[in-house]
Amino acid sequence: MSIALRAPSYIRAISPYVPGKPITELARQMGIAVEKIVKLASNENPRGMSPKARKAVEAALAGAERYPDQFDLIAALAERHGVAAEQVVLGNGSNDVLDMAARVFLAPGRSAVFSQHAFAVYPLATMSAGAECIVAPARHYGHDPAAMLAAIRPDTHLVWIANPNNPTGNFLPQAELRAFIEKIPPHVAVVLDEAYTEYLAPTDRADAVAWIGDIPNLIVTRTFSKIYGLAGLRVGYGVARAEVADLLNRVRQPFNVNNLALAGALAALDDHVFVADSFDLNRRGMEQIVAGLKHLGLDHIPSHGNFVTVAVADGAAVNHKLLQQGVIVRPIGGYGLPNHLRVTIGLEAENLRFLEALDKALRA
Ligand SMILES: *Cc1c(COP(=O)(O)O)cnc(C)c1O
Repeated sequence: MSIALRAPSYIRAISPYVPGKPITELARQMGIAVEKIVKLASNENPRGMSPKARKAVEAALAGAERYPDQFDLIAALAERHGVAAEQVVLGNGSNDVLDMAARVFLAPGRSAVFSQHAFAVYPLATMSAGAECIVAPARHYGHDPAAMLAAIRPDTHLVWIANPNNPTGNFLPQAELRAFIEKIPPHVAVVLDEAYTEYLAPTDRADAVAWIGDIPNLIVTRTFSKIYGLAGLRVGYGVARAEVADLLNRVRQPFNVNNLALAGALAALDDHVFVADSFDLNRRGMEQIVAGLKHLGLDHIPSHGNFVTVAVADGAAVNHKLLQQGVIVRPIGGYGLPNHLRVTIGLEAENLRFLEALDKALRA
């Protein structure tokens, strides 16, 4: 019998994560020059990283022979959120923190609840821990608090919430979200994934980290991959009660965030101008793309992130025609949305390339 068959059945049942197609891969496959390709597939910041972060990363190269020290970034994040350093857990991307939460609270015989069309990492993390996935039906493509509460079973130990959600861009307003989380039984851990929170309109933003004081089962995660533009460096974090953070740290690899990522994140955190400019660019790009989609007669799911999900007749077919024109977006059939494509808001010229390619793809 193959050694592969000896892995637990819950590991063998995992469907691998499908990332956005890398530019280099499309270049190889289609023979298109790398410079001619537009990638709007992974919700990366089209402006690159903050110049201050880049400088800090370059300087950090000098100490690459030493193991990393997380002290400074943890201290800065604790100060930013008004919490104790013991409450902050760093991750190799926030994905790493999601995995830690699953390993701490889930196990075979336990279950986790998340919404239909929610982020693909939730089933991955849940199944890696041997737990069962319970998928609550979505409401208008987004999280339905009532359905998620009803889905909680006696063996449920974790609820995953993405706000805003990826790939749909839906968002639960602060009051509704808080009321929902308060109704989750206190013995069930709640992971509130706020990867896109910096893209919310200021009036929509909630300080969910402050809720941890009243809601001890809450873990809030954030990332440097999205508005901060550091997706390739891999750094994110979670904030929780100190006793919860302590458990997350026990399953964390000791040196999970590298020197360059630590330095880049620390500098990025203070580059408020870069974040504000990225926010403005996204708002304008969202208007540009939404207007373009309307002009093409296409429906979209109103989005609160740096991406928008558009209804086309056949996602895979349209995607193929976009790829042929050197435009990479994200097909989301794996999220139960085979008739939609998700496009990341890019630079003005990239958005235009996408809209023109989409127009051609629909008419071809
Ligand atoms: C992009 C994303 C993340 C962040 O992933 P990183 O590991 O921090 O790069 C987390 N949650 C959601 C919903 C995302 O879309």
